[in-house]
Formats: sequence, C-alpha cells, structure tokens
Amino acid sequence: MANSKETGRCIFCGGNGLTKEHIWPDWLAAYAPKIGDSSKHTANFMKFDQEGPPQEVDRRVNVKQGDPRSKKLRCVCRNCNGGWMSRLQSLVKPVLLDLVLGNSLGESAAGVRRVLTPEEQHLLSKWAVMFTMVAEHLDYKTIAVPTEQRRAFAETQCIPENWRVWIGRYQGWRWHGNLIHRAAAVTQPGDAAARMNLQTSAFAVGKLFLLTWNTTVSGLDLIDFIPPRKAALEAIWPSGGAPCSQPTRIIFDFRFERNASLFFEYLGLDVPLATQLPHQQFASSAVVRPRD
Ligand SMILES: [Zn+2]
Repeated sequence: MANSKETGRCIFCGGNGLTKEHIWPDWLAAYAPKIGDSSKHTANFMKFDQEGPPQEVDRRVNVKQGDPRSKKLRCVCRNCNGGWMSRLQSLVKPVLLDLVLGNSLGESAAGVRRVLTPEEQHLLSKWAVMFTMVAEHLDYKTIAVPTEQRRAFAETQCIPENWRVWIGRYQGWRWHGNLIHRAAAVTQPGDAAARMNLQTSAFAVGKLFLLTWNTTVSGLDLIDFIPPRKAALEAIWPSGGAPCSQPTRIIFDFRFERNASLFFEYLGLDVPLATQLPHQQFASSAVVRPRD
C-alpha cells in the first residue's frame, strides 16, 4: 500500500509541501519532564493460527537518538498543519492544559474537579484522534487507520465510526511524552495479505493519560466494551452525553502498560487466549518506549 513516506504526500489531504513537525506541540512538551536522550522502538510481528501457540515471526528494535518529547515526523503538509490542525489545537488547548495540570486549580479551590462538558469531551476526542493518526506514522508498517478515514477527518473533523477514546490521570515517569501503539491485522481465512485494521494508542503528557482504539474490522463493535475499574478510565468518546471528569484514581507506569494492552485482551489476542479467535490472524504489535 502506498504511504506518504513513499509518495511524499500529506497523510491527511494527499497534498504536497510536507513540513517536519513535532508530534507533540511545543507548548505541551513543556509539561512533560525529560526522560532521556533516546527512545527505543520495538516492533514484534506475531501470527496467530488456528492451532498452536502464537508465533513471533519478526522483531525489529530501533533505537533513535534524541529527546522523545521532540520527535518529529514529516507526514503533514503546510496547509493542513497551519489550517484545520492548528485551529483544532487552539480550540482544545484550554481543556488539554487543565487536564495536563491535573485540574489543580479546581481542586485547590474547593475540592471540585474540572468538569468536562459533552462538547469538551468531543473536542478533546477529536484532538486524540488527530494525534493518533499522526503518531501512527512513527512506524509505517503498523499503520492501521485507512487513508480514506484520514481524508474524511481532514475535511470534516468528524470522528470516524468505531473509534473510542478514554482519559485517565497519569502519574509516572516512564511514559512522559511517549506512547505505546499496538496494531494488528485481523483476517479471515482466504483473505489476501494482511493489512493492519485495528490499533490502540496509549499516551501521556503531564497528568493526562489518553487511550484511543479503532478498528475497521466488520462486526467488531467497540461500543460494548466497559473497561475494568482498575483501568481507571473515563470514556469521552462516544460521550454518554453527560458531564464527566478526569478520574481521581491514578494510572502509574504499570497500569499505563496494562491499559495499552486492554484492546488485545478484550479481543482475546493476548498470548494464552489467542485460540479464542480460531479463524483470525493477528499480525503485528508495535511499541514505542523509552530505552531501558
Ligand atoms: Zn495536508
């Protein structure tokens, strides 16, 4: 499949004139403490067959130099970046900042947490979807959002079908300004070569934890999933239509990593449960994490 790395085209509009941009906006990186001078990008490619245990078929480890908070990608054009993406950033900034700071203003005032209106939940979800669509391009082999979804999102900023977004309250050191992105190709017997068709991204900045899921696998409805209490997540998309707030329960590094696997657990794709999906094949998972 052609991708923007091969074609030099914008991942959103297909246009020319790509600019090299930080995946985290500069103003946001200021709220994430520096965690190191390199990041390790690991991708394992696994295959689940009808019988037998999952097999790892390939593994690549790529250590990249540089502060993970200042990762840059060249996949978005000047028009998109300076246009609709920049407008969305400006709109979401006040909400994002309150959550990054952990709503400390509200809490210190009267023990009242920052309440997100359904409109604010929607706005923050749009930003998380945009972030996911860009960050996926850290590894071209594990891009799961189809080109047509990105095109439509660039035009309308409507969140595509079958996406979910949750927020949490992060307090750790390992994942500041980093993310875990896992993707998989679920195929039916007889399908042609697998292309990634589901993904999950977990990322944190300051005290804000965000988790996105999406899939284009038909019949796989994400709406039924309710995360366990210990995951300490609050759904913001689809929104229940009521105000909500950032959970008080804290997500530490261990829980961050567990939450990044929730989708795969839900699908029964994490190792011992693979046989629960006997006719499907699971092809890939990619993790971007700091160097040990
Ligand atoms: Zn563009």
